[in-house]
Amino acid sequence: MTCKDCKKEIGYEAHKNSVDTLGVELCKRHHQLVTKVVADNKTPVEAVQLFYALKEVGISPMLEWWDGHKSVDIAISRVKLNIEIDTDYQLITHEQAIRDLEEAMYSFKNGFTTIRVPHIVIKYYLADTVKNIQGIIEGLKANIKVV
Ligand SMILES: [Zn+2]
Repeated sequence: MTCKDCKKEIGYEAHKNSVDTLGVELCKRHHQLVTKVVADNKTPVEAVQLFYALKEVGISPMLEWWDGHKSVDIAISRVKLNIEIDTDYQLITHEQAIRDLEEAMYSFKNGFTTIRVPHIVIKYYLADTVKNIQGIIEGLKANIKVV
């Protein structure tokens, strides 16, 4: 068992702790670091899982990246892609909906693309989610080349 972040060998206890709370295998140090980020930003655990799944396929994501207006769950700066994980669809209010639209407007103005990924998709279709994001990144790269 190795840490998904630093590839260090991890023991049973650290492994169990990390998988139970975040759903990702991390060493004690990285578990603490990520737990702090999650607590500070109310990051959904699915964002952490997607973050490490993207890392594994060679993408360089950033967890909780500050874009000047708000903290983005996951950002891929090379192609200016922001990924927000949506957790509670039933509870969306009109205030939240207009805020989402405003945020989308700000990111487009800054040349960023924002996609919203429902947390259940990460839970049940992590590999497919990663594949689709890889496709989006390729598309964005192609567009950057044209400009
Ligand atoms: Zn580690």
